[in-house]
Amino acid sequence: MTQNNKSKSRDSLDQDQFLTILSREGALARFEAALFPRAIPSEQRRLADALGYALTEDVGAPIDVPPFDRSNVDGFAVRSADLASATETSPVRLILNDEIIACGVAPARPVLSGTATSIATGGPLPRGADAVVMVEHTQPAGVRAIEIRRAASPGQFVSYAGSDMARGEALLRAGTIVGSREIGMCAACGIAQVSVARKPRVAVISTGDELVQPGEQLRPAAIYDSNGAIVTAAINENGGEAAFLGAVPDDEAQLESVMRKALAQSDMLVLSGGTSKGAGDVSHRIIARLGKPGIIAHGVALKPGKPLCLAVCDGKPVVILPGFPTSAMFTFHDLIVPVLRRMAGLPPRPDAKVSAKVPVRIASELGRTEFVMVSLVEGNDGLIAYPTGKGSGAITSFAQADGFLKIDALADQMPAGTDAEVTLFTPHVRVPDLVIVGSHCTGLDLVTAPLSRAGLSVRSIAVGSLGGLAAAERGECDLAPIHLFDDKSGTYNTPFLSDGLELVPGWRRMQGIVFREGDARFEGLAAQEAVRSALADPACIMVNRNQGAGTRILIDRLLGDARPDGYWNQPRSHNAVAAAVAQHRADWGLTIAPVAHAADLGFIPLAEEHYDFALVSSRRERPAVRAFLDALASAESRAALTRAGFRPA
Ligand code: AMP
Ligand code: MG
Repeated sequence: MTQNNKSKSRDSLDQDQFLTILSREGALARFEAALFPRAIPSEQRRLADALGYALTEDVGAPIDVPPFDRSNVDGFAVRSADLASATETSPVRLILNDEIIACGVAPARPVLSGTATSIATGGPLPRGADAVVMVEHTQPAGVRAIEIRRAASPGQFVSYAGSDMARGEALLRAGTIVGSREIGMCAACGIAQVSVARKPRVAVISTGDELVQPGEQLRPAAIYDSNGAIVTAAINENGGEAAFLGAVPDDEAQLESVMRKALAQSDMLVLSGGTSKGAGDVSHRIIARLGKPGIIAHGVALKPGKPLCLAVCDGKPVVILPGFPTSAMFTFHDLIVPVLRRMAGLPPRPDAKVSAKVPVRIASELGRTEFVMVSLVEGNDGLIAYPTGKGSGAITSFAQADGFLKIDALADQMPAGTDAEVTLFTPHVRVPDLVIVGSHCTGLDLVTAPLSRAGLSVRSIAVGSLGGLAAAERGECDLAPIHLFDDKSGTYNTPFLSDGLELVPGWRRMQGIVFREGDARFEGLAAQEAVRSALADPACIMVNRNQGAGTRILIDRLLGDARPDGYWNQPRSHNAVAAAVAQHRADWGLTIAPVAHAADLGFIPLAEEHYDFALVSSRRERPAVRAFLDALASAESRAALTRAGFRPA
């Protein structure tokens, strides 16, 4: 929905922003219209401090470079006419002048006909000389003379004054980003400072009662402030000069005072969190009081990123990014970076794009432009783009992705097999040497560590055992880690392999009951007894696992027909089970031993789970696959796995 409210008064327009969702394009257009054109303030910077800045004025050469005719080699300055008759059989003899022209030495004597002067690379050509002969092409002939057996053309081995840069020549144009080459050019002609666009000063504030800064102790129910660090870095990466002012609680008065101070000292203000229109979310109310025209857009048809709020207060952009880190980053890169770069005098960021096939169907919400982060791997014919989304609250999906694809606002899905355009986060595709797609285990990192140290890049994409098998069957990965229990045969993994896949035994993971140490309902009991004891206490709450998890099969066997309190709490990972018990949200559950031990919980062993690898046979001889198989078999990995609580197969 794009709105067109030109006829309305400013005030009613501002009111409407709270109720209206703008399209991405509409929001960006309004934001830019309220900010540009504007003068870009410039400053003089010392050459060494100008790296990465954009020039605001053309730079011309104030002198000739080189400033004099200069020798390019070590040898002798000569008159070329003297050597016209020189050949292999009739050498020409030249008397040496009593002078050696080293670098930085101005010549004192002329080169008269029949003479030569010794000259070093970089030395200025003496009067009378018009060429240089390399020392290798001469022979001593007595004490004060040399012989030369080949002719020299005029200008041979000479760089003429101004041949590199001529006085008055335009060397660099306004808008050029200063890099080492530009710095070198300026230095060569004596320029010590340049006029550059002053980086916009951007104040960054995180908002939320729940936020704790990295390095501090995490309180119960609190989370670490990741947006503050990411946004600060992303601003610096895109031509701004960020000042992070910390996290401010959701307190209107306190936040307003911090925002006012921040805005007074900077050219732009970026907040994150608190943009929803809920009661605790106050920043957008404050913005309305900070300056004119105020809020430009609040709510953009983007996913992730819908609650984005864009404002301009007395000429300065004020932005509230959504709280969820992935949403914050997408909206920042998509809508804020273009504005920031313009303010910094930088050209738009060039986006590298590649085409890749999407192996699975991706559902999408109708009416919102949706961005989906993807990991790229090499398939049998071309690149494959795996969605890596872990939800907009996740942060690792951003770090592990190679780029993103866009699903149009009018589409409700992207079908499996679509050839999609992927915008890369980096200038080039980095296809990993080894691709592992399937179920993730912390033990995997121990085995792949030596590969990374050997310079092989490893990409592990967690999609669960069944997803990994499907990827292996389609030839999209080298290995699929799986732990699938076959009820009929009572065995793990082998019954699930199709043609073209072979089993590489991995390790065993002891599964068992986790409980808080000292809980008398479990302490010292065997597994079956512990479950009986739990079921006997109506106040005892369990935590289950998701359908399809191997661990879930064990739980259902243990429980029989019982459905105790907590049965419907079905998290998808071993770690979530341990966290629920450690935080007293549940009293017991089933997880693997290393996870229970890492969380300092009690553990009653029950049954071993087989974590193995489905290897795509046709890829067995690839160097990275060989390296993985070697690492898996190595004494070093086996010892590391054992230390971590796994049992190598
Ligand atoms: P909000 O928009 O404030 O309701 O926040 C939405 C979600 O993002 C909540 O789960 C917040 O805890 C989370 N969040 C907000 N700010 C940050 C931040 N600076 N770092 C990490 N997560 C955040
Ligand atoms: Mg919040």
